[in-house]
Amino acid sequence: MEFTKAKAMEFPRRIIAGHASLESVPGMCREFQLDGPVLVITGPTTRKVAGQVVCDMLVDAAYDVDSIDIQGATLDTAEEVKARTRELDAEFLVGVGGGSKIDVAKLAAFQSGCPFISVPTSAAHDGISSPRASIKDGDDNMSFTASVPMGVVADPSILIKSPWRLLAAGCADVIANITAVADWELAHRLKHEEYSTSAATLAKMAAEVIIENASHIKPTLEESAWIMIKPVLVSGVSMSIAGNSRPTSGAEHAFSHALDRIAPGRALHGEQCGVGTILMMALHGGDWERIRNALDTIGAPTSAKQLNISKEELIQAMTSCHAIRDRYTILGESGITELAAERIATMTMVL
Ligand SMILES: [Zn+2]
Repeated sequence: MEFTKAKAMEFPRRIIAGHASLESVPGMCREFQLDGPVLVITGPTTRKVAGQVVCDMLVDAAYDVDSIDIQGATLDTAEEVKARTRELDAEFLVGVGGGSKIDVAKLAAFQSGCPFISVPTSAAHDGISSPRASIKDGDDNMSFTASVPMGVVADPSILIKSPWRLLAAGCADVIANITAVADWELAHRLKHEEYSTSAATLAKMAAEVIIENASHIKPTLEESAWIMIKPVLVSGVSMSIAGNSRPTSGAEHAFSHALDRIAPGRALHGEQCGVGTILMMALHGGDWERIRNALDTIGAPTSAKQLNISKEELIQAMTSCHAIRDRYTILGESGITELAAERIATMTMVL
């Protein structure tokens, strides 16, 4: 029989993470032989933190620079960015900001066919270097195919200035890889779903780095941002290897997506996924206390109360999330009963 397996993977070509690495942005662009006009995508707040500095450095490096401030990752803002890209005839895009700015930049880059450089000023989830963009269409969160950044410049001295809650949520989103991979292994065994050992190992390792270093991840300490940003980027790479979000998204993510519908806007994606990881780890019969302790040490929520949700909302999310998407997890095809949900939530002190 002929061997026909083929796979395309896209990765960032260069990742620079380190103190004061922000100044390496123009050099990175030249190194990639990007010489034409550049559109910098940032926001009103992130412009003050790093966006304007990046624009000024690019001007000093003799680039033709235009910039746009956007609010939120929506289909409208992505259209706006694409229109500006066309007007400027931009050769490449630079996204400077938190998750939403990067999401819009990577989607606009993909749809405009331009390369893009990612300069995260925060990391509330693991999507910074992933090939997916999370974009709002009205009240719905949609996931789009997007460009993997050609280069990433992650400066911990900038990241640590973002609200701690965001970085703690980013850590929790990476910790979620533990149950995501456990679910993936289960789906591989029970449903013969395609599985990648490399992607799963990388995703798990990223989570382990955060868990093992939890006591060193503290607000205001620049080293914390340095410790957490690499696993965040590695999580993105694991998605590129898998060709989907399987290594980083299982039942704990389904739980978070269910909460987005049941109790929208109460907590951050990563925070919900963190609590989801405690619950799903307990369902797997794994060491949920280790997960809970790591989240607690980092300062991420570990309970329904800290997520600002009621007992009813929690139980509703736990019992309905198996139906969120067609992805086999520990919740199986029919999910868990209210009684089981309450028992697990009580046992893990989420309730
Ligand atoms: Zn996530």
